[in-house]
Amino acid sequence: MKILVPVKRVIDANIRVRVKSDHTGVEMNNVKMAMNPFCEIAVEEALRIKEAGNADEVILVSVGPTKCQETIRTGLAMGADRAVHVETDDTLEPLAVAKMLKAIAKKEETDLVILGKQSIDDDNNQTGQILAAIMGRPLGSYISEIEKNDAGFMITREIDAGLEKLQITSPAVVTTDLRLNEPRYASLPNIMKAKKKPIEKLTPADLGVSTEQRVQTIEVNDPPERDAGVMVSSAAELVEKLRNEAKVI
Ligand code: AMP
Repeated sequence: MKILVPVKRVIDANIRVRVKSDHTGVEMNNVKMAMNPFCEIAVEEALRIKEAGNADEVILVSVGPTKCQETIRTGLAMGADRAVHVETDDTLEPLAVAKMLKAIAKKEETDLVILGKQSIDDDNNQTGQILAAIMGRPLGSYISEIEKNDAGFMITREIDAGLEKLQITSPAVVTTDLRLNEPRYASLPNIMKAKKKPIEKLTPADLGVSTEQRVQTIEVNDPPERDAGVMVSSAAELVEKLRNEAKVI
């Protein structure tokens, strides 16, 4: 079984994001970048499936500028076997990314695609859903557990009312939730080994996919500033403020 794991390069989750002064987006110059945290979880899960003897190969794919190779190398150092880099400086929408992933998943004949449930920069939460739809494959979204079995995959999803268990057929697409696993750190020998692992380079045109934009960002703004908190001296004063000032009780 082959597993494809799409990994996205995003602003490091520990960095405080700043909105550009012209409000066209967020500041990207000299900002530390990293693998999207949900994609790290996806790589970890693919590696665990392989280590359990249920997969032969874990292939990474990243779509974006030259520097995506750093993200790819991180995933290769975690243990993935090889990667595909679709190089482009264009602004990417989930539909275009999903079309490229479809082309690669078909070419590689992958049985399972594990994506992050969302990228923390654009918060789209769309690519996995679109990919499953355009490939005509079952989707397991926001999974917190996955198990390979003869019928395909048994997955557990975290839903409002608790946990939902579903059996889906193979080939399939799944997206990772936060509690699926805790990703490993790459060891130094594995970081060295990763330098020699192959990265195939393609362009969107090689895959027959246009990156033409259909969604335009109008404006990006900081969230409204919160008023400073006040100390209250008693429970009675708190109740009085909640009732008469905040008017929430
Ligand atoms: P999104 O729909 O943008 O929130 O992204 C959900 C998931 O789709 C990510 O966690 C990745 O697994 C995948 N993905 C989105 N954009 C890219 C990209 N440019 N390259 C590789 N994978 C991506």
